[in-house]
Amino acid sequence: MANDTIAAIATARGVAALAIIRISGPNAIDIAGSCFSGADLAKAPSHTVHVGSFEGIGGQDVDQVVVTVFRSPRSVTGEDVVEVSCHGGDFTQQEVLRSLLDHGARLALPGEFTQRAFFNGKIDLAQAEAVADLIHAHSSLAQRVSLAQLHGRYSRHIEEVRAKLLETCSLIELELDFSEEDVEFADRERLARLLDETSEFLQRLLGSAHLGTLIRDGVRVVIGGRPNAGKSTLLNALLGTDRAIVSDIPGTTRDEIEAETEIEGLRFRFVDTAGLREASDVIEAEGVKRTHRAIERSQMLLYVHDVTKGLDEGERRFLDEMARRHPELVVIRVGNKSDLSMNGAARSEDDLKISALQAQHEPDALSELRDILVERARGGVSESDASQIVTNERHRQHLQRAADAIRDARAHIDSASGDVLSIDLRQALNELGSITGEVTTEDILGEIFSRFCIGK
Ligand code: GDP
Repeated sequence: MANDTIAAIATARGVAALAIIRISGPNAIDIAGSCFSGADLAKAPSHTVHVGSFEGIGGQDVDQVVVTVFRSPRSVTGEDVVEVSCHGGDFTQQEVLRSLLDHGARLALPGEFTQRAFFNGKIDLAQAEAVADLIHAHSSLAQRVSLAQLHGRYSRHIEEVRAKLLETCSLIELELDFSEEDVEFADRERLARLLDETSEFLQRLLGSAHLGTLIRDGVRVVIGGRPNAGKSTLLNALLGTDRAIVSDIPGTTRDEIEAETEIEGLRFRFVDTAGLREASDVIEAEGVKRTHRAIERSQMLLYVHDVTKGLDEGERRFLDEMARRHPELVVIRVGNKSDLSMNGAARSEDDLKISALQAQHEPDALSELRDILVERARGGVSESDASQIVTNERHRQHLQRAADAIRDARAHIDSASGDVLSIDLRQALNELGSITGEVTTEDILGEIFSRFCIGK
């Protein structure tokens, strides 16, 4: 337990109806009590709420506040915690904080509340990281995954596997103590099964990392196509607003327009480019260059062409070049203006036909395109269980190294001596333990918590 008491404003800066100032540490209740006149906080039971005046540094009345008392260990950090809700003016919240600091609290460092919760065993490291993820969640799937992590369901899967490996590793190490006697405590067949199961589990988690990245960062989709193909109209239809500029003058959308929307829990960020025109003037050439650049930073290219015209040679060359230059890029081709074309099917091969113009008034008209976008983004990975998706790059690296160590152990199971196996298993145990924080170093902790904001 830390021996000092920290305080910080827990809500966002700026004017709001309310602001919350949080205090945690051995003197939290005393410090808050000496600024508060509504009740004797020293006698207040845990989880009680009190209304009263809050005094500033010179003893003047600052605000009418609501104070909530949480006594150790039944609090978010495991320490005594007091939350002061005051009115949300910038000045008022600063005065409350200043008064608490004046009475002996110290301004919290970024992430220090969560760090204390971790050190006091309230949450493990993966849960602490989930707090930050939940705050930054910008789609329903991101929120679901970080909530599953925050509730500890993700950590439990990892801990279960780790516990089994630990037990086996101990048996192997016991054999080493009796090495003279040629005994085998850890049955090799059982060990092989355990390693296979562990490996399968790790591969499943690693396989979810692609989806995890999309859940965390969203999917960036460049809308490409010749001027007038209907890119802006399609963007508007997908967003259901008039966010993009639509015009029938070729090349109107010269600057990139970006807009976001959520489809089946994933956040999609569409980038409407300046159009791919033959480089007839400087601005258009610039537009083509920008399209290439935008594609480099994106996962998908949604290529729109006019079904009444079909794809021309230039477009085919462009799409071939894209496929060659960006093998990972998912390309979805749509033939637009299907309302104008009775024989469009013949011209636009097997591309999906849409009418962006009609879809602006019939939102369901694009449901097939939306399904394709989600399906291709996911790359075949579904999220049947939100607690088994890796969204954190640090975790992915530990999981990969754990999987490598398990693979080595499996390869050597018959030939290697107990001490070689034990080294591989210890390596895997360390890697898995680093995810939940069983095994950590000061550096790792410092790096993780410094990314939080103050008051968390
Ligand atoms: P962009 O240059 O590719 O962004 O194309 P716009 O979205 O600005 O559309 C160019 C013109 O085509 C506008 O007059 C649109 O109204 C029209 N347009 C777009 N989509 C459709 C469609 O599905 N059917 C028809 N008939 N016209 C469309």
